[in-house]
Amino acid sequence: MSSKLALNLTRNYSINFELPKRAKKKIIFIIIHYTGMKNETEALNKLCDYKSKVSSHYFIKNSGEILNLVPDLYVAWHAGKSSWKKLKSINNYSIGIEISNPGHDHVYKRFNSKQISSLIKLLKNLIKKYKIKKENILGHSDIAPNRKKDPGEKFPWQKLAKQNLSYWHNLSLRKIKKNRNIEISQLEEKTFFNNLYKIGYSRIIKSNLKKNRINLIKAFQRKFRQKLINGKIDQECLLISKNLIKL
Ligand SMILES: [Zn+2]
Repeated sequence: MSSKLALNLTRNYSINFELPKRAKKKIIFIIIHYTGMKNETEALNKLCDYKSKVSSHYFIKNSGEILNLVPDLYVAWHAGKSSWKKLKSINNYSIGIEISNPGHDHVYKRFNSKQISSLIKLLKNLIKKYKIKKENILGHSDIAPNRKKDPGEKFPWQKLAKQNLSYWHNLSLRKIKKNRNIEISQLEEKTFFNNLYKIGYSRIIKSNLKKNRINLIKAFQRKFRQKLINGKIDQECLLISKNLIKL
């Protein structure tokens, strides 16, 4: 194997997946997670324990080693209640990748360079194999903003975008920063949410409206405006959202 896409995978199967096998063409998304547990071994054990009812297809260790827990063609249980565009239950259409990181509830760390270079190799491999569009490489918080924060604002989406592995705006950071914390009008607020719906985020559920609104804004910020996660829409967020729908 001389290809630079050659993957060094370790099989470590989890019992948590669904039968029967799905068709290859059903796989259209890749969902990125962090484990959100203090300890890597505990996280791995949980993903393989039948009592936990959770799993993912891949697990990237702190060392960068990639474990394959569930074969791609079986549905793994990583996304839970989720939606994107018109689709619900994203587990059925996706491959889930868990990256070892204690997450926001413990000590949220930067993802290390070994983890990211393994992830890049894995993504290139999967995108090629299943013809996945870069705009369908998503974080767990994108498809479940009211429940999830992962992979969070330390995840290097922009770095992935430079390798054509994710969707990103093409505005200069210096330019947009000038718009940070500048208020927007009510009409602009409407435009912002409509832009998010065009990108693929689900409409805000009317019950618990205020909280759900903040969660959606934060999900957007964790991905596209990582320097300030405050749940408030400002001119910078609006500009980014406008740019994204034009791509
Ligand atoms: Zn997750």
